[in-house]
Amino acid sequence: MTINSIRTSHTNFKLHQNYTDEKLFPLIEKYNINVENMPIIGSGAYINLQEKIQIIEHLLEAHELALANIKAGNITKRGFATNICTNDNHWSIGTNFNNTRNDISSICGERSAILASYNEALVRFSKSGSNYFNFKIKYICMAQSEELSMIKNSAVPCEDCLSWLNTTRYFDDMTTIFSFEKNQKGMLCLKSAKLTDFLPCKDYELSNNFDFEKPVKYSSSAINSMEKFNLTEEDIMVLVNKNYDLYKENTLSNISNQNVVCSVLANGKIYSASKIDWTKRWFTEPLEFASSKAIENEKEHCKIAIIAYFGDSCSYNPLTKEKFNDGGISIKSLGRIRQKYASPDTLLVLNLEDSLTVLTIGEYLPKKFIQGYKII
Ligand SMILES: [Zn+2]
Repeated sequence: MTINSIRTSHTNFKLHQNYTDEKLFPLIEKYNINVENMPIIGSGAYINLQEKIQIIEHLLEAHELALANIKAGNITKRGFATNICTNDNHWSIGTNFNNTRNDISSICGERSAILASYNEALVRFSKSGSNYFNFKIKYICMAQSEELSMIKNSAVPCEDCLSWLNTTRYFDDMTTIFSFEKNQKGMLCLKSAKLTDFLPCKDYELSNNFDFEKPVKYSSSAINSMEKFNLTEEDIMVLVNKNYDLYKENTLSNISNQNVVCSVLANGKIYSASKIDWTKRWFTEPLEFASSKAIENEKEHCKIAIIAYFGDSCSYNPLTKEKFNDGGISIKSLGRIRQKYASPDTLLVLNLEDSLTVLTIGEYLPKKFIQGYKII
């Protein structure tokens, strides 16, 4: 997709009857936005002018909610809000909720809005008499509390939100994220991006087939990283074998039946951890756990050069024929470790069905792993 792939159609649409109508679009009026002239940038989907008006009005509504959230005393003093549109054109709004400074008692605006949207869709479903729950999200419109004149970069989902969004259940290849961003001329633009631009490549599903006769594949970025970190193929295989031994020995993933193990090479030493189940839904995530061990030992100088992450295949619901990407590497944990102790160049060794694949974090989660990235 390129920037040119998004266009605005003016066909069959009379401007003066629509977005200039204060009653229908009061916020576009209040902020004095010239919808027709606002450039659309990014790699997202085709929208027509009517959709553009709807999206901008709902982005402004989210902006006002984000402002209200700060005024109400949200403890982070930062306001974010999201307006969600379902495939059947119902809108729901939510803002960030920060009850304490801990992530367990906080939720971002995107997830807050998804929850509102899901609950409202369920209410409609319960009243409809239908047996088919049709709930897919079309647009995710993300706004910040920052004054429109001060906005530089668009709001993007964090890795905790992406862990939620990385499912085929309520999102699909068409789900598009919209936000405001300034272009190089300082003009306020509508930024659009496909949700899939932010998610890991679905080709990297883990496998529990440990036939190590299968080929070892190195990406070109992986070869560059090996040179950068001064690593050999043997260094990688030592880590792989250690991780495989751990996989065989792990009996602690006994409630979920989903075994995952992770080993990291940091400052020349191997640190490992197994997934430990507390309940079917609660477990200790091995990437974060192994990395924590490394960081605790190596302190501030900890540099994670390789991650080997092995686990069981994605789970599959034969009733709905839905596949859940819950056998993938944890986006949430990658989001944490890349902040400081790993980098987009850190090698990632994954056991896939047909190969043992060596790539980099930057390839696994391409654009969002560069702080302040730009969508190409
Ligand atoms: Zn988030």
